[in-house]
Amino acid sequence: MADVQMGDRDTETFAFQAEINQLLSLIINTFYSNKEIFLRELISNASDALDKIRYESLRDKSKLESQPELFIRIVPDKVNKALSIIDSGIGMTKADLVNNLGTIARSGTKEFMEALQAGGDVSMIGQFGVGFYSAYLVADKVIVTSKHNDDEQYIWESQAGGSFTITRDVNGEPLGRGTKVTLFLKEDQLEYLEERKLKDLVKKHSEFISYPIYLWTEKTAEKEVSDDEDDETKKEEEGDVEDVDEEKEKKSKKKKVKEVSHEWQLVNKQKPIWLRKPEEITKEEYASFYKSLTNDWEDHLAVKHFSVEGQLEFKAILFVPKRAPFDLFDTRKKLNNIKLYVRRVFIMDNCEELIPEYLSFVKGVVDSDDLPLNISRETLQQNKILKVIRKNLVKKCIEMFNEIAENKEDYAKFYEAFSKNIKLGIHEDSQNRTKLADLLRYYSTKSGDEMTSLKDYVTRMKEGQKDIYYITGESKKAVENSPFLEKLKKKGYEVLFMTDAIDEYVVGQLKEYDGKKLVAATKEGLKLEDDSEEEKRKREEKKKSFENLCKTIKDILGDTVEKVVVSDRIVDSPCCLVTGEYGWTANMERIMKAQALRGNSMSSYMSSKKTMEINPDNGIMEELRKRAEVDKNDKSVKDLVLLLYETALLTSGFSLDEPNTFASRIHRMLKLGLSIEEDESTGEDAEMPPLEEDGNEESKMEEVD
Ligand code: ADP
Ligand code: MG
Repeated sequence: MADVQMGDRDTETFAFQAEINQLLSLIINTFYSNKEIFLRELISNASDALDKIRYESLRDKSKLESQPELFIRIVPDKVNKALSIIDSGIGMTKADLVNNLGTIARSGTKEFMEALQAGGDVSMIGQFGVGFYSAYLVADKVIVTSKHNDDEQYIWESQAGGSFTITRDVNGEPLGRGTKVTLFLKEDQLEYLEERKLKDLVKKHSEFISYPIYLWTEKTAEKEVSDDEDDETKKEEEGDVEDVDEEKEKKSKKKKVKEVSHEWQLVNKQKPIWLRKPEEITKEEYASFYKSLTNDWEDHLAVKHFSVEGQLEFKAILFVPKRAPFDLFDTRKKLNNIKLYVRRVFIMDNCEELIPEYLSFVKGVVDSDDLPLNISRETLQQNKILKVIRKNLVKKCIEMFNEIAENKEDYAKFYEAFSKNIKLGIHEDSQNRTKLADLLRYYSTKSGDEMTSLKDYVTRMKEGQKDIYYITGESKKAVENSPFLEKLKKKGYEVLFMTDAIDEYVVGQLKEYDGKKLVAATKEGLKLEDDSEEEKRKREEKKKSFENLCKTIKDILGDTVEKVVVSDRIVDSPCCLVTGEYGWTANMERIMKAQALRGNSMSSYMSSKKTMEINPDNGIMEELRKRAEVDKNDKSVKDLVLLLYETALLTSGFSLDEPNTFASRIHRMLKLGLSIEEDESTGEDAEMPPLEEDGNEESKMEEVD
């Protein structure tokens, strides 16, 4: 919190908020090679401030009266070793100075320090919303003078070291409106007073700022003044070129005088890059525009520059970054990274109506010819033009993603960073669902080390294969050897591994691809074509012979399973548990359990009933069948069935509600295997513990409550 003390009559001292103070120490005491980015950060703040006043002035012209011209000026002062960046933007009131420059920490402060300590570059600072403090990379003292239309002119001053002061500026030169940031440079940073250096930096980092950036430049001209400087001499010089000696003689008579003059030199091109022709723009120019737009320290991964003409006209440049930002799915911050311009005038930079949330990672600019200049946030929502722009932007984004997909390496990067967004899009954007589905990539039983697209899957489909098979689970490892895949693998059918929690929602919405149904290998009703009539007949016979065992198992397991049937899908394992076609998969049950905040009551109500499928070709099942035939109530049959059920829970991707009960069953089996007699004391346990049913657990929960 601000620690207010009264110092000089009009000077108040404030303590920096703790995290900001830490950040300042880090900036001052660590060596960074990339200090030059401070200028980009301060110019970017100036540009933001100009955007704000221009936007306000669209509704109320009088706001510009305090200073009609919109500009950024850079003034090097070699005498005082100071560099000033001046803007005629919105300015800061006294309260703004206190809050924005020191007492209220941004959410990114901590994240930025963590990023730095993890080896991140200091040029990342702008992305974390604390760019102002980069001033201390090169300065040991900073003075900010600011004038907002609603307040007097104030001075903020600090040499870091824990505190800053605020003073009313009574005697200073009035700014009219705007902000002047003056950096008193460290002794080893004086290169930032050099004209050449400053011009280079503006060109490198801030060329595409859409306000004029002027540099206060000094010109020393050597002017020759001769005593007899008259028309005659000049004529002689011009006319008589060949007579060199004579000319030299004449020159020597002249005096040389140094004349110093100052002028404002425009150092950035201001024609917005999106108005230029794409074929005339270099990759470097796009990269530099992207960086100035986003504060990113890396180049973009992809760019799409286009214009739409016809009933409606607009120009746009869209970029895909190389990485996801640190706060991509931060729900507190509804960020949208498309800047909206109307006929070259910046309107706003977080216009939610411009692009759907799942594409919020795409950055860029849109410049519309049709929207009214005085458009307000309130009227945006109903705006038809905006709806059309939005539709076009989505289309172009998808085109751009497909272009990225043409390069495997780039696409792998893209997919790692933004696959969740694509999946979210499939869930939310029904209009573009099919197109987005083309962008999906999954590992599969046949994909090897690279992921496969659904399109490629389809080209590999076996003759007679009608559906696309997938299995959902926690990880590739957890699903690749699942018993559910046995028969599918044997038949040579490829199965996609869906291991992202959001995949459950994706298949829930997608349902099919290219006319082929997406079928879960773990759900009931998986029908695989049999190879021949002969085999079909044999299976039917086998099924019949196992009917009794199915009944016996169902009796033993009771309500924990919906039914027990002979399986078509397993080849090696004795049994597995499948879920209803329309219910949750085991994976979904896991996800929902993890998400549910309170107890199991919801999930046991929602989770779908499991069907046990048994494998008639498995030795264990055959033995069980024989024993059950002799005596339905054989205790060993009951023991084995319970154990098989619990093992199947695990191999089918469910979790055990009571791992201890399961463990004690296993231990008992081990003892049997090792021929160890049961202890007298544990005699009671000799009976297999009963199976906990979902229902029982529910009532227990209620008792505890
Ligand atoms: P960011 O620019 O990401 O908001 P900064 O640390 O660069 O973070 O700036 C902090 C805040 O200080 C800005 O959001 C703005 O409110 C204020 N600010 C900084 N520079 C200026 C300026 N030149 N004019 C007006 N306000 C400014
Ligand atoms: Mg900034």
